[in-house]
Amino acid sequence: MQEQGFAPALVMQENISLRDKNWFNTGGPARFFCEPRTIAEFQEALQYANIHALPLFVLGQGANVVISDDGFNGLVIRPQLNFITVQERIDTSVILHVGAGAHLSAVITYCLGNNILGLEEFSGIPGTIGGSIYINVHYYGFLLAQFIQEATIIHKKTGATKTVPASWFEFGYDQSRLQAEEYFVVSASFNLKPCTDLEAAYARGRSVEIIRHRVSRYPSKGTCGSFFRNFHDHEVHLIINNKKMIYSAYYLDKIGVKGALNCGDASVSYQHANMLVNNGTATTHDIITIARTMQEKVYEQFGVMLRPECLLIGFDTYPLLDKDRE
Ligand SMILES: Cc1cc2nc3c(=O)[nH]c(=O)nc-3n(C[C@H](O)[C@H](O)[C@H](O)COP(=O)(O)OP(=O)(O)OC[C@H]3O[C@@H](n4cnc5c(N)ncnc54)[C@H](O)[C@@H]3O)c2cc1C
Repeated sequence: MQEQGFAPALVMQENISLRDKNWFNTGGPARFFCEPRTIAEFQEALQYANIHALPLFVLGQGANVVISDDGFNGLVIRPQLNFITVQERIDTSVILHVGAGAHLSAVITYCLGNNILGLEEFSGIPGTIGGSIYINVHYYGFLLAQFIQEATIIHKKTGATKTVPASWFEFGYDQSRLQAEEYFVVSASFNLKPCTDLEAAYARGRSVEIIRHRVSRYPSKGTCGSFFRNFHDHEVHLIINNKKMIYSAYYLDKIGVKGALNCGDASVSYQHANMLVNNGTATTHDIITIARTMQEKVYEQFGVMLRPECLLIGFDTYPLLDKDRE
């Protein structure tokens, strides 16, 4: 029987499959794996990695990762700080405090059930709050950064936590300071808008419509979303309508890979040229083989090198075409 007030310690597991913990459903196991539920457990996990000199990876919902078939030879931490609470509610704003492990979809559902507006624009995007802040999740004109007030972060080596304003993250398109991998997110506060029952009902309808639109346009399982990021202005030369063509999907559409490139049980989606899909039994090797062919074809025809938006985890050497080629 559990003693009253006793919090069970962090459970460290060994040789845990990551295949069922990422959206591609591919990849090998994590040598060590744990799911901290409190800041103290998160600190314990970081300390474990430091003491044993283990490479470290913090996993969210695995919606933006490609994991090597050999797995990850280190410690994978999947934070389970999943709380969602209203920190403050006044006439003009609601401050929502959310744990890094909470799913974006759960946060949106909570908001729409509690007359809070703002995040519904991200309906249908898989991911945890931590992973979504890491990449500054975006959909059309909306960036998650627009709604972040502050966040509590934890230092990879020392385990020290601090609360920082949104400006600390130096957010850009697909960018945040978290990508330096010195800190991880523990929780974040969002500045949102209160609304009436009627406005909440309207927002619920909009959320359903956004999801319907997404499902009709993009694959929604066995994928990591957009595989390659869009280009930065200075990386491309092609000008269309007086603007640099920065969209990766444009180049991929032009080379005709949509629905036409396969390897094993992986293919380029027939719905979207920048999305790869595991149709059931693909391996990460299959996915990487297709991605390399896409890079090669775009490079041959346009002289620009596609770079991944998704994170490549557990590879001894960079598995795609050299990012510095050009
Ligand atoms: C079907 C589909 C559609 C998608 N559509 C969109 C879209 O419209 N817009 C968009 O922007 N993205 C989209 N994505 C990409 C994906 O949803 C986002 O990148 C999402 O934020 C990933 O969150 P995650 O928790 O799954 O992160 P993971 O994939 O688990 O990890 C991604 C990165 O975040 C880091 N990370 C995770 N948690 C933390 C933490 N607590 N602290 C610090 N770093 C952390 C990881 O270390 C890793 O580097 C889509 C993906 C899929 C599968």
